Amino acid sequence: MKIHALTTGAVRVKHSFLFPRLGPRRQLDLFLPGPFSDPLPIHCWAIEHDGVLRLVDTGETAAARNVPFARMEVTREQELPAALSAAGLSLNDVSEVVLTHAHGDHMDGLVHVHGRVLINEVELRFLGTPMARVMRRVLRQPLPPGFAPEPFALDESPFGAFARSRALTDDGRIVAVDTPGHTPGHISVICVDDEGRHVMLAGDTTDSLEQLQSLRPDAVAPNANVHIATMKTILAHCAQHPTIYLPSHDPESEARFHSERTPTETPLAIA
Ligand SMILES: [Zn+2]
Repeated sequence: MKIHALTTGAVRVKHSFLFPRLGPRRQLDLFLPGPFSDPLPIHCWAIEHDGVLRLVDTGETAAARNVPFARMEVTREQELPAALSAAGLSLNDVSEVVLTHAHGDHMDGLVHVHGRVLINEVELRFLGTPMARVMRRVLRQPLPPGFAPEPFALDESPFGAFARSRALTDDGRIVAVDTPGHTPGHISVICVDDEGRHVMLAGDTTDSLEQLQSLRPDAVAPNANVHIATMKTILAHCAQHPTIYLPSHDPESEARFHSERTPTETPLAIA
């Protein structure tokens, strides 16, 4: 198995997004003036396994609009096709995409992809709710043109600490696990690498490892308690298995990915 970290530009987010207050101000502050972070990466991931090339998320495009709490910094030259060629890969070889969740910075790159696209059925159902439709209009964040992913269901088969999961490959080495919080149907993808470590492609379960360890809910999660419960599950999983935790926007994800995969170093569980 070979995993590649891809980067499709960067995003600056409001401080109140990364460090929200508790209570009603958690979400309100997103829409009030405030300072922004340094640029954070917009990662997506490519997995070569058993002759199949899969993507986890597809990154952002230059066409993306800013929202009150996030400013995109993406050029056409940073979109998915270039990110793949930088890794020595070709779009034509992509046969499947798995989405962690349905936010633009994870799925706008679908405009470049022709293969099968998978999404958690819970996430797809949420996209059809009146609330989600209104938010897309208010924030001017339309679904990518031609958006027609295939829904899949997580079943009651536990994977480590996760109660619900779904194997995406016959050998069970690439597994979608239930990580609701940031969005209601958010999933993460865990790859069991050739050394038996769990490489957790975590989407926006948190923005950083520090946020996970602090059990700090983010500002956009519809229900902060659901988000906190997921973070506890992830920490429990990391305590059971050597796990490399890789959120999409953590500036340290790429370094963690490379350094902890060096065979001379002791793999680190993060809990
Ligand atoms: Zn994101």
